[in-house]
Parts: sequence; C-alpha cells; structure tokens
Amino acid sequence: MIGGGLAGLASAVALAEAGLEVHLLEKRPHLGGRATSYTLPDGSEVDNCQHVTLGCCTNLADFYRRSGAGGKIRFYDRLYFVDREGRRSTIKASRLPPPLHMAFSFLFFGALNFADKRSIARAMLAIARSGGQPPGIESISMLEWLRRMKQTPAAIERFWRVVLVSALDEELARTDARYGIDVFWKAFLGSRGGYRIGIPSVPLADLYEGCRESIARRGGPVRLRCGVREIRLRDGRFAGAVLEDGSEVSADACVVAVPHNVLLGLLPKEMGEPGGPLDGLRNIQTSPITGIHLWFDRAVMREPFLTLLDHTTQWVFNKTLLYGQTAGRGQYLQLVISASYDLVARSRQEIIDLCRGELADVLPATREAQLEKATVIKEVNATFSPQVGVDRWRPAQKTGVENLYLAGDWTRTGWPSTMEGAVRSGYLAAEALLAGFSRPQAILQPDLPLEGFSKLWAKRSVA
Ligand SMILES: Cc1cc2nc3c(=O)[nH]c(=O)nc-3n(C[C@H](O)[C@H](O)[C@H](O)COP(=O)(O)OP(=O)(O)OC[C@H]3O[C@@H](n4cnc5c(N)ncnc54)[C@H](O)[C@@H]3O)c2cc1C
Repeated sequence: MIGGGLAGLASAVALAEAGLEVHLLEKRPHLGGRATSYTLPDGSEVDNCQHVTLGCCTNLADFYRRSGAGGKIRFYDRLYFVDREGRRSTIKASRLPPPLHMAFSFLFFGALNFADKRSIARAMLAIARSGGQPPGIESISMLEWLRRMKQTPAAIERFWRVVLVSALDEELARTDARYGIDVFWKAFLGSRGGYRIGIPSVPLADLYEGCRESIARRGGPVRLRCGVREIRLRDGRFAGAVLEDGSEVSADACVVAVPHNVLLGLLPKEMGEPGGPLDGLRNIQTSPITGIHLWFDRAVMREPFLTLLDHTTQWVFNKTLLYGQTAGRGQYLQLVISASYDLVARSRQEIIDLCRGELADVLPATREAQLEKATVIKEVNATFSPQVGVDRWRPAQKTGVENLYLAGDWTRTGWPSTMEGAVRSGYLAAEALLAGFSRPQAILQPDLPLEGFSKLWAKRSVA
C-alpha cells in the first residue's frame, strides 16, 4: 500500500481483515494524509483543517468502526445558521416522512422570504420525485440547473451556495449539476438521518491508531517517512516500489493511494502520455480551502458550530466545546473557507483581519476579547474540483496492469473529493485486488436506505 491517507488506510485495514499481510509505505511522519492533525511548536495540536462527515457517509462510518474510532465521532442533529445581523436560524429533522422531514425547520428559516422558499421547495421536489435524478442535468453546471429551476437570487446565494460550496469545495458555476443534486438527495431528501453532521471529538490524527494495529495484527509493517520514488513494472506486472533511499520493496500486488498529481511522477512515463491509460488525470483540476485557527482569551461562542450567511467565512467550529473542554482558559475557534480562490494570494495577517471583522458581526464577544494566537493554513490543492464532466477523467481502481490497483478520492467512485469518497475508493481497490487473487469479497457498504415518499418516488422513477 503506497500512501497512508484515508484511501490507503481503509484499503489496508480491509485487506488485513481479509487475511492479507499489508506493508504500508507513507511519505510523511503521520497517517491520515489530508485528514490529519499535527503539533505546533508551542505544543498545541491543530487539525490540518476541520473535517466533518455526514450521516449519509456509510463507508466512512464503517471504516471508523473497523478501526475502533467510531466512538470518537459525535453526531449533531441540529444545524446552526447566522446572518450578517447576527440572527440565528436552526434546521432539524421532524417526524414527517422524508423528503418532508426538514419542511418545518425550513418554513421558519428566517434568512429567506416566502418567494425564496417556494422556489427552493420546487427544486427540492424535482430532485425527490425523480429519485435524485432529475432530467436534463447531463453536462451542465449546478448554477445553470438552478437558473433553469427559476431559483431566486437569494435562494441561490443564501441557501444553495452556502450548502454546496462547503460540501463540494467549488463555486456553483464550476460544479457539475449531478454532484450538487446528489448532495441534496443523499443528505437532505432520501432519508431522515443523512444530514446529521459528525465531528471528531479528538484531533484527527488520534483516529488512526487502530488502523496501525489492524495491519500489524497480520504481520504487516506501517512505515512512516518512507516515500516511494518510483513504481517498477516488469513484463506488464507490478514488480516493486523504489524508495527515496534507493532500496526496493516487492510484493505480490500493489495499491497506489497517493494524490492524482503525484501518481504520474511514480509510474512509467508512457502511462500518462497522450493516449496512455492515465492521460486523463492531467485534466483533473484542484480547488483550495483555507483554515483559520484563532485562540481567544475568553468564551466568545456558545454553539458547537455555526454556518455563516453573507460572509467570506463559511463555518466556525468551537473546538474547545467539540473537544469536550470548558472555556475557563479561553476558547479555540477554527474557521473554514472553501473554494477560497480569492485568499490564495492574500497574506496571513489580511486573512486574520478579514475573519476577525466577520466574527464581530456574528459573535459580538470577539470584539472585546484578546486574540492570543492565530494560525492560517492554506491548502491550495485541497480537493479535486467537481467540474462539469470530471467523471470521464477519473480512472477505475483496477488498472490495465494485472496486479496494480489505484485508490484515492479522485478515482472513480461517483463521490466528490471527501473522506467518504476516499474510503469508498480504498474499499473498491481492496475488492478488485481480492478478486484478482480469486478471493472475491464484498467490502463496499450500501447507502442509507431510502425512506418515506422518497423511497416510493425512487422506485417509481426506476420503474
Ligand atoms: C483543508 C481540507 C478540508 C477538508 N474538509 C473535508 C471535510 O470536512 N469532509 C470531508 O469528507 N473531506 C474533507 N476534505 C477532503 C478529504 O481530506 C480528502 O478527500 C481525503 O482525505 C483524501 O484522502 P486520500 O487518501 O484520497 O488522499 P490523501 O489524504 O492526500 O492521502 C495520500 C497519501 O499519500 C502520501 N504520499 C504522497 N506521495 C507519496 C509517496 N511518493 N510515497 C508514499 N506516500 C506518499 C501522502 O503523504 C498522503 O498521506 C478536506 C480536505 C482538505 C485539504
């Protein structure tokens, strides 16, 4: 297994549980890839960026369970929104059958007027009544679809954009409509629990200790600071991985779970050349996320997290509360800005000033509070961009090379660049590898079961 991010870990754990001896080679000093945390020089631990999961992410939940981290994810039923004037609204499921379970909250959602809500309800019904597959969405952007569905400007700005830019890390005009619609179908319409938000109650790196144990139980080493320089093929088969120190590791089969922009540099050149099997990878673009970590000298926020409307800042997480600590010695907040193209060239101080100005609108206590420490982490290539038609560039986990498999959120899973997508890719690679050894096994987990009218309508639309 080359790469110890979520895709590599999920695949490695599933293969070890299937009885294989897995050698995991990870370039960095820690596991978890993009979804990890590290210690700052002053001893405080920061996540690379806040990572959240949703109730509909069934494979990620399965991976956390397998690796003993399930109990470290806390799920929240209530979503909190705040607008420029500091007005709060919440969204929560009621007892009504899906897709109507959110209707009550939505009716009282203060940030939208009646015309906005009517237009949103119409679009939501079009998604639900078609079983998540409304006609005419091929090769168009989400923005184009919303315009065709006659969404009001406020509905687009204060509802669709708010949910989708943070879920997909891309602007609506660049997002494939299928990805945008899928978010609403899987998280908000198909089942009652799909929207529940899961947040780790520990630093991200603490979630992966169990993986190391699972792999070790089958005798396989987990080697950190062990970068691979080259993947060697001989007679059309994987022959070995050359490490940065020049030594070579061989194996009966190999799963490569590195980012897509690293993969081509490891494989023989012809695989990525025009006409080669992985040529399409060059067309996959990436989008940035900026995380801003602020430590205040006092309590400034009551909610566990807040979604901001009308601001550059999209989410604020109350890390002190999420870690189950009290604010006696101050409060640590983490802010997230997805698709943060405009921030890439801005200085750390400019970004901090911008965020402090916005926090003053929604968390008035921050105006008087002292900022004791701040860190900005810009991930320029945070996720692959779910641009229109991106699926045609995403390769399958099984390659043309008999004993070489690919994993990574960017491989073909149907999911956007998320932890769920990464785990799915790892499970699919493990299934393909086991099938290659004539030991087929189903590892991929099913989606949440559809409920209520959504189930009926999905059945009808398939029929
Ligand atoms: C800032 C940010 C916020 C995000 N927020 C969320 C969120 O809230 N929810 C969500 O679901 N997803 C989120 N994501 C996306 C999520 O982190 C990724 O989709 C997922 O972690 C990708 O996992 P992966 O294993 O495919 O890739 P990676 O995590 O990139 O793993 C690849 C691994 O390969 C290793 N590697 C690279 N080169 C070599 C080499 N030559 N030899 C050996 N090893 C090598 C790397 O060090 C890395 O550990 C976020 C991503 C970022 C960056």
